[in-house]
Amino acid sequence: MNNPHPVPYSIKRHGTNFHDCAAEPIRAPGCIQPHGALLVLRSVDLTILQVSENSPQLFGLTAEQLLGKNIDVLLDGACQSRLRELLDREPIERSPLFAFTFASPLRGASPLDVCVHTIDGLALLEFEPAGRGDSPPPDFLATMKRTSAKLQAAGSVAELAETAAAEIRNVTGLDRVMIYRFHPDGSGEVFAEARRDDLPAWLGLRYPADDIPVSVREIFRKLTVRPLPDARSGVAELVPLENPDTRAPIELTHCALRGASVMYTEYLANMGVAASLTMPLLRDGELWGLVACHHQEPRPFPYDVRAIAEFLAHMVSLELRATDAREHAGYLKRMHAVHLEVVTRAAAEGGLAVMVEPAPRLLDGIECGGAAVFHRDRWWSVGATPSPTELEKLGAWLRSELARTSGPSMHFSSDRLGTVYPPAQHYADVASGVLCVPVTNNFQNLLLWFRPEVERTVNWAGNPGDKPQIPGPNGPRLTPRASFALWKEQVRGSSAPWLPFEIDAALQLRLLVMELVVSRAEQIAALNHDLARSNEELDAFAYVASHDLKEPLRGIHKYASGLREFAKSGRPLDEVAKTRLDSLLRLTMRMDGLISSLLHFSRVGRLALEMEAVDSSEVVEEALEMLGAWRHEPDVQITVDPVMPMIHCDRVRVREIFSNLVVNALKYNDSALKKVQIGCVTPSIQPVAWREAARASPVANQVIFFVRDNGIGIEARHHQQIFGMFKRLHARDSYGGGSGAGLAITRKMVEQHGGVIWLESERGTGSTFYMTLSAPT
Ligand code: ADP
Repeated sequence: MNNPHPVPYSIKRHGTNFHDCAAEPIRAPGCIQPHGALLVLRSVDLTILQVSENSPQLFGLTAEQLLGKNIDVLLDGACQSRLRELLDREPIERSPLFAFTFASPLRGASPLDVCVHTIDGLALLEFEPAGRGDSPPPDFLATMKRTSAKLQAAGSVAELAETAAAEIRNVTGLDRVMIYRFHPDGSGEVFAEARRDDLPAWLGLRYPADDIPVSVREIFRKLTVRPLPDARSGVAELVPLENPDTRAPIELTHCALRGASVMYTEYLANMGVAASLTMPLLRDGELWGLVACHHQEPRPFPYDVRAIAEFLAHMVSLELRATDAREHAGYLKRMHAVHLEVVTRAAAEGGLAVMVEPAPRLLDGIECGGAAVFHRDRWWSVGATPSPTELEKLGAWLRSELARTSGPSMHFSSDRLGTVYPPAQHYADVASGVLCVPVTNNFQNLLLWFRPEVERTVNWAGNPGDKPQIPGPNGPRLTPRASFALWKEQVRGSSAPWLPFEIDAALQLRLLVMELVVSRAEQIAALNHDLARSNEELDAFAYVASHDLKEPLRGIHKYASGLREFAKSGRPLDEVAKTRLDSLLRLTMRMDGLISSLLHFSRVGRLALEMEAVDSSEVVEEALEMLGAWRHEPDVQITVDPVMPMIHCDRVRVREIFSNLVVNALKYNDSALKKVQIGCVTPSIQPVAWREAARASPVANQVIFFVRDNGIGIEARHHQQIFGMFKRLHARDSYGGGSGAGLAITRKMVEQHGGVIWLESERGTGSTFYMTLSAPT
């Protein structure tokens, strides 16, 4: 039978010319490790699209016999239905899961464990020799329980790493297990190690960033475990090399069998390592380090061993942050207390300058030699910091750096500032390290901590500058370093590193400061609003002082002068003089009234309320009693709703509120029968009014009262104005006269109770005044 998929050997992996590790197509190498086999199926119809070239050795079937066929050529009914079940129900996209153990049709062949995952509409089936070989299966559950307890008890990250290395070596039985930790510059350090006694110690050795290139780190962020049972075994290529449906190389990132990179296998060979098992360690989703396990002989890693190693590494990842916090609990507590106090003081003083002086200061929180704050267009600094001019330039650079690089994390930190910002080399003694957080969104205002230079020795595994070129089969290319001999470097210009929890603390402080800025902005807005109101009231006062008060004064002056002339003449008081005296009296009384209402208005704001639970129907009744005989005039009809609620208020003030509103309702009323209704609304019958009130103040626990009249009504454009001090819509003496102070005083009293007052009215249709007061809790 013809093979429907001719094999395009032209893009064979070894035909590619790599110049460095980063260039290798590690995610889609087109090959697998030859101890297992890979089948690539189209998920929808389970047609075999690609197969590893070693299929005859594992299944006794060639690529030609498999390609283009349904998977039923290989799997029996039970395996097929298990496969379908996984594809239909399990979350296996980019996440391999053990499917079943498969009895190979090849006579005498050992059973194969099959793991399945899907990726972009393809199902990848990985077949690997089953079982643990000769070693007895460990009691995994007991191991997990014991190990988790140990990891959780670790008092420091170093102890956590040591325990993890020892325990992982215990379960896997490998020659060397290292906890490898990345530094901010990308280099890595052997942070903890468990090894066979006869092997040399690698603890503390540093490896340059190039040893684990970015592309590999990217893969490790997505993977959970990477087994390489025999680095010397070569590879089995896929047939065909590309997915025949898409003509694209297939992504093997998640395949345990993915062919190892040539650079990596050479690297391992240089270290005398035959097998490796690697798991990523993540802290908050970022690659923190690796668990790197080495074995000098080839070593199978069956699914169950991989699973427990993966589980333990995962536990370490989860414990990293908590252990960090445990280890530095005292320091953390002190740091937070200082930050809180610094912010509280900044809030009280209304500026960030107090963060540098007096104590406690920024300097007393995160350990540093100096700190600086950029605020109100200048630098405020404390301790050992660069000079003001240097700070100015550094600040500008940091702002552009923050704008360029900072994602949601919003900070910049370096423990070798001079390498990224050369001018800092001149002040390495005070600022080899800098940690910076912006406290405004435009990066303008900054908080900075500085650390001085500390001289230290780095133990490199081999000279990190060594990049040997060797003529490979495809021309000269870079090879991994062959020498791992200890190479010591005296490092200058670097500070103690900024630890993740210190950066977290700086970020938390940033949030506190930003909240402070926001709340101050709100306070200022509220103050401005109040000031604007006070100004309006002052304006009104100025108006009344110049008009209303001056007018009676002018009159008084006029009549008093007339009376003086009259007195000079020596004549007895005639009618004219008597009228003048009456006018004098009237005018002084009028002034007295105006001044009293002014005094009353200013007192309302200052006197404390005497709050108590009050039956509102009683207060309304008292207010109505104040009307005296007016209430019983034949042209007056006042009704009060039969059910009135209890309220929490100052009884005297609320009586005055109702009295003011009822007096106005009767005063500004031309109707033959002046009707006034007093009551209480519920949200269900007055949704509009309720919404209005809700908009102005929290609705919880509030009741809405109303005073409705059939009077002359008020045009909408005056609805706000009438609450202003001495604001009248009518001539002074019409409608029984008034000073225009009543509603201003009423509103002030309602607001003092935490309520709001508003009205619904149109000219000629009567008015309804609403106000909210609190119900007793
Ligand atoms: P005054 O003490 O002069 O009555 P207020 O502050 O109580 O002043 O009221 C201000 C203005 O609002 C009044 O001059 C009047 O024109 C108008 N006003 C108040 N209440 C009513 C009402 N119930 N109906 C119509 N107009 C009213």
